[in-house]
This record gives sequence, structure tokens and C-alpha cells, in this order.
Amino acid sequence: MRPVDDTAPVFAPLAEIEPLLRGPRTQIVRLRDERLRSALSHAWSNVPFYRELARARNITEQPRDLSEWPTWNVVDLRDTIAAHPPFGSLYTGEGLADVSIVNSSTGTTGAPRLFPECRVDGSGLERMYRRYVEFMGITKRDVACVTLSYGLSRAAWSFTRAIESIGATLLPASSGKVTPPEKLLAILEATGATVLTITPSYLAHVTAVAKEIGFDLSRIPIKLLWTGGEAAAPGLRAYLTEAWGASAVMIYGNTDVSWVGVECAASRERHGELGMTVFEDIAMIEILDERGTPCPEGEYGELVVTSWARRSTPRIRFRTGDRGALSTEPCACGLSTVRMLPIAGRVDDGLRFHGQTIWPSAVGDLLTRHLGGPAEFLLELRDADRVGQQELVAWVDEARARAVGAEAIAEMLRSKLNVRFDVRLTPSSELAARTGAGTDKARRVITPAQRSEG
Ligand SMILES: [Zn+2]
Repeated sequence: MRPVDDTAPVFAPLAEIEPLLRGPRTQIVRLRDERLRSALSHAWSNVPFYRELARARNITEQPRDLSEWPTWNVVDLRDTIAAHPPFGSLYTGEGLADVSIVNSSTGTTGAPRLFPECRVDGSGLERMYRRYVEFMGITKRDVACVTLSYGLSRAAWSFTRAIESIGATLLPASSGKVTPPEKLLAILEATGATVLTITPSYLAHVTAVAKEIGFDLSRIPIKLLWTGGEAAAPGLRAYLTEAWGASAVMIYGNTDVSWVGVECAASRERHGELGMTVFEDIAMIEILDERGTPCPEGEYGELVVTSWARRSTPRIRFRTGDRGALSTEPCACGLSTVRMLPIAGRVDDGLRFHGQTIWPSAVGDLLTRHLGGPAEFLLELRDADRVGQQELVAWVDEARARAVGAEAIAEMLRSKLNVRFDVRLTPSSELAARTGAGTDKARRVITPAQRSEG
């Protein structure tokens, strides 16, 4: 068995580390680099996955700099789980006796990925969660309700641990299937709840139900809407914070890399516009382009996370698939830590066609303007008859686009994006079945590879 070392870094409470986070950047960078060096040598010596990953790229010695370590993503994660079931070779722990809880991915594609939390990570995680909730202004006098689903997925459990770490009172409501909105509102009022952890779409639903049944939201003293699970557009955030008379805060985190960023008060006031602060003594972020080269500050690319929040499973250069950017400009709130600017979708949303990247969001925006309102659409990249030739079909909701016509839309897209689309109008119901319209993740792009996967 690999000896589980107890030299894991101790994440200082907020009050202790705050002077450093507000001091000159050189100080926090020095601490980050020290923690990073230790995480890298620990990962190389104790986590088999990284040597396997390196060997496959003909790397035999521990790379000196982070930039020389291989990057990896969810595909490698699936591979290691398949090769070393049930968890992959990513952990220092030996077996289930070392594991306190097992969570699972919620992804709708592929086999579920199991994530163990090793006992050795418990105290470090608790300190990290506590830092986050202190930073958000949650105290032991708060009553915090969790409306994420308690089940195999991780989020509700992390939020719960965070709330418990500060000694606040927990209301484990779970989702609407367990506690319907009317009942949730009644419980929030009866307990005088002050913090609500919730996905933006469920919050919008609960808000609508309150309006419908004539429930006055000012009866609930909620001060903080802690949203997770998905990003909320600034307009929706403004509406929800106004309706509840509360501030909204977002964190960036997922089961793969744990928690990485959190909005400061200044960013919250601007509905997340300033992005999220990264506690650099716990995690480090890089932004890489398609070739794996670092993007200049402020430019968007793939968000790549290195995190040593969990000693049993340091995550070195995990490619998240999220489009992000960084800023080291001092924040309006006085922090000098690096900020992740607001996430701008997924990197794989972009479609490569004839040497150009086409963003579905740009196509959607043009359609909305041209058709005088939002229209369902789907972009499909197809292999044409001739070898190496591809064509790009834009399926557009017929009911919306009939008056304008397919040819005029194709001409408009060609003139704006300099790309020839084969525009085809299709009934709303057929299109909705293919895009998954109305669900939280509508599909906008289909490529030949995705089609063959089914
Ligand atoms: Zn700030």
C-alpha cells in the first residue's frame, strides 16, 4: 500500500490569509508556486495515473515545469476508470476502506464516472469549504437551505459540507421532486432562512410559483442566493436578485476539479461581470488555445485547472472544456488574486468549417436579429459525397423563418460570417426533438463523429 502522507497543505482560514490575498501579487504567487511544486512531486511519485499519462507521451522523468506536464480531460478519465475500475489510477488510497463517500458524474453521455472521496482529504476539503463560505459572508447565525438533489451527484453534498463547516443551520430540502416549491416557500418562511443554494433555472421556477400563488417573497429574509449547477445570464440574475431582495453569488467548481473560484462582493454587485476570484494557494488556472499554447491575459481559450485541494488525488492540468479567460488586474474589491472572467460556453461548441470557427451563439444572435425574435436552430456538419468535402447545414424553425425564406437567411449568414450554409427549414417539433429544446442544455451542433456515436 502507498503510505498516505500527512504533509498535505493546510488551507488557512480567510482572516489569516486575507492580508496575503490583498498584498502585492508576488507574495501570493510565491506561495502558489511553493504549493504547486509540492503537488507536482507528490502527484508524480504517488499517483500512478500521471506516470501512465506521461509514458504514453514518451515522458519518463517528472517534467520540471507545469507547462511540460501532459494535459488531459474527461476522455482520459473514462479510460483510466475502464483500465482500473472502479475509480481509475488517480488516487493514492488503496481501496474502499480509505473512502468516505462515493459520488458519480451526472453526465448524460457515456458510462457514469465514480468519484471516491478519500478519508485523508476530509480535513483539507473542510478547510477549503470554510474559506469559501467565509468569503461569501455566511456565518454560523445563517439558516441555509440546499435545494440541489441529494443523490449520487456531488454538488448537494459539497454545499452541505460547506454550510456545516461554518456551523450554520442546514435545511436539506433537496429538489422540487422531494420538496415542491409551495412547501419550500413555507419552510423558508417558517425557519427564517437567509441563504438559498439553488440552480438558476429552479430559482426562476420557484419565483414564478410564488407569483402565481400570491406569496410575497419579502416574508423570507433570504440575503444570499447561492447559485450553482449552471451559469445564469446577467439579465436573469438581475431579475432574480430583485425579486428576492437578495444578492446572488456563483462559484466555479465541479466533481473533476473540486472548487476553483468564487465571486467577490464587487463582482456580485455587477451580476458576475468581474468574474471569480481564485484562491491561488489551493488551485491554479491556465488558459490554453487549441494547440495547447497559453493564451495572452484577457483572451478566451480552454480553462485548464491544476488543483491540490485533495491530497489523495491532485488534479494536474485538467482540461475542463469550458471557455475562460484570466485577469491579474487588481479587483475593485481590493484583492490581488487572479480572476477567472465569466465562462463563455464550452470550447467544443465551436464548429470548424473550411478553416473557420463558427460559434453557434453567433449564428443564434444573427437569426434573432434577422427574424425579429429567437428561433430554434441546429447546425449540422456533414460529410458530402466527395472525399474530404464537408457541407454545413443550418436547420431553422420553419414557423419562425418561413416568411423570410431559406435563401434569404443563407445569404444573410454568408454576408455576416463569410461561410456558405445550406439553410433548411424544418417543423418546430422535429427540430426540438433533435436539439432538446426546453432542457437546460440545448444541443446546437452535430458533427459526423457525433452522429456515428449515436
Ligand atoms: Zn473582487
